[in-house]
Amino acid sequence: MTAATTAEEPMALAAARLRTVGMRVTAPRMAVLTAVSNSAGHLDADTLRERAQQITGHLSLQATYNVLRALTDVGLVRCTQIPGQPARYEAERHDNHHHFVCRCCGGIRDVECTVGAAPCMEPQLPEEYDIQEAAVTFWGLCPDCRAAALAS
Ligand SMILES: [Zn+2]
Ligand SMILES: [Zn+2]
Repeated sequence: MTAATTAEEPMALAAARLRTVGMRVTAPRMAVLTAVSNSAGHLDADTLRERAQQITGHLSLQATYNVLRALTDVGLVRCTQIPGQPARYEAERHDNHHHFVCRCCGGIRDVECTVGAAPCMEPQLPEEYDIQEAAVTFWGLCPDCRAAALAS
């Protein structure tokens, strides 16, 4: 694969996805969306900014946040807030998945929802509440940290 195809094809794809949701296509939006789409997920704004800058040139952290918020609002990006950590971003797949966070290394991995459609739990709330989703974070030790803890 040549450098041209690696740089241009994801950008064209990003532009098409922006148009699909009715967003104006701008270089920062294409670059940030490409950075999110090309990652394995769960990156913070600072890391995404660095990656987007490799595509589009200088991008301020504030501009990166603004783009990420706009992409989250239209459902192209999913933002996950984990206490004690910066917000993490990943491509929105509408699969209602949850997250496991390692208390030791901070690693995050997806946990498929075993129940299915959102909301995947039935909280005890009056029926006047319109519950749309359940955000579940599982905390514990990842296999590496668990092995290290057992070995020490
Ligand atoms: Zn760990
Ligand atoms: Zn995830």
